[in-house]
Amino acid sequence: MRFGIRTLDEVSVRGKTVLCRVDINQPVDRATGTLKSINRIRACVPTVRELADKGAKLVLLAHQYKNYYSTKPHAAVLTQLLGREVKWIDDVCGPAAREAIRGLREGEILLLDNVRFVAEEQTLFEQKLRLSHVEQAKTQVVEKLAPLADLYVCDAFAAAHRDQPSLCGFEQVLPSAMGRLFEQEYCAVSQVMEQPERPCVFVLGGAKIADAFQMMETVLSRGVADTILTGGLVGNIFLAAAGSGIGQGSLDFIYKSNYGEFIEKAKTLYMRYGGKIQLPKDLAWVKDGKRQEALVGEIPAEIAAVDVGYWTAKTYREAILSAGTVFVNGPMGVFEQVASEYGTKAVWQAIADTEGYTVLGGGDSITATEKYELTEKMGYICTGGGALIRFLSGEELPVVRALRHGSAIPEKGA
Ligand code: ADP
Ligand code: MG
Repeated sequence: MRFGIRTLDEVSVRGKTVLCRVDINQPVDRATGTLKSINRIRACVPTVRELADKGAKLVLLAHQYKNYYSTKPHAAVLTQLLGREVKWIDDVCGPAAREAIRGLREGEILLLDNVRFVAEEQTLFEQKLRLSHVEQAKTQVVEKLAPLADLYVCDAFAAAHRDQPSLCGFEQVLPSAMGRLFEQEYCAVSQVMEQPERPCVFVLGGAKIADAFQMMETVLSRGVADTILTGGLVGNIFLAAAGSGIGQGSLDFIYKSNYGEFIEKAKTLYMRYGGKIQLPKDLAWVKDGKRQEALVGEIPAEIAAVDVGYWTAKTYREAILSAGTVFVNGPMGVFEQVASEYGTKAVWQAIADTEGYTVLGGGDSITATEKYELTEKMGYICTGGGALIRFLSGEELPVVRALRHGSAIPEKGA
């Protein structure tokens, strides 16, 4: 048991029907029906392989949100990665799916179709209906599938912040455990939150402002973060709060994105924790396709800042190199374009170079890591951006709560 949740070391699976919820949601090219990325599929392979090797009759449940596609291409990719057949059926919990589950033999794997094709899963997601976990156990997907199964395993840490039947309902009625990826990711983020090596440095950039502010508030008030290095839109907002000129274009972007209120919030945070929050020393903008930089205080009145500058990257590098822990979410600038990638590239290189334990999450942050070929040099890359941010914002993850419940249900025959 870790964190009150069973691991795969504590369950017996041979000959048992195991429902395993994975998060293999990936961008799909609808025209060709192919996946544009397979990172998440790769990440769940250890759990799938272990369960199948141990002789489970393995049923995989997954959602595909981007483009609402079926999970058929995922089965093909899994088959390739595992080097053994992953069957697929165009049904989630109807008679066809149930018959296929009953027909599974030891070590066989079946991927069901997109769970979000089932109305309850979908409405809970889209309309944010609230159903308790007990009520979720009475939904179609749980009522139809749970009686066929002996064990529920959740390996979907990336979806751990979602309160939906396929994630939180089965744990009410089936003995449950977390998969290897879930265990690994949950441990990595818990370590940052509970006992980070000091100094603990947060690198917060990007454009998801509400998330960044919630996270900052939590990690500062709990004494988790010793230093926060701000960049991207987050940095611009703090500079605006400090009364520094960031250029009218930068301000327009903040107001246009409806982030005006965060300038006030940044003032409050800065007043309370100013010593711990570092602001960019210089900014970059693009004029006629060319990168330009200036120190804060000398920023031209009209520009829109799209990156941090040389001096900021240099200062941040030093803080990162002397850190015991570095948590990273959100790029330092619009790294997608060459003229505005310098800050992100330089800071990411520092993150790769530090001896400290590094945890990085967020879709664009991961894209930047891949772009600069630093994947192997990061301590831990979290597949679950949303779950990670919710967790670091101090929220209890619904799936963690459900798994604790299911971990107390004894296994049949145990
Ligand atoms: P992640 O996906 O890693 O959590 P976000 O989604 O919060 O990160 O932010 C990434 C996006 O923020 C990128 O598309 C990037 O271009 C954009 N961005 C970064 N800096 C700025 C900036 N100064 N102004 C506008 N957009 C920015
Ligand atoms: Mg993003």
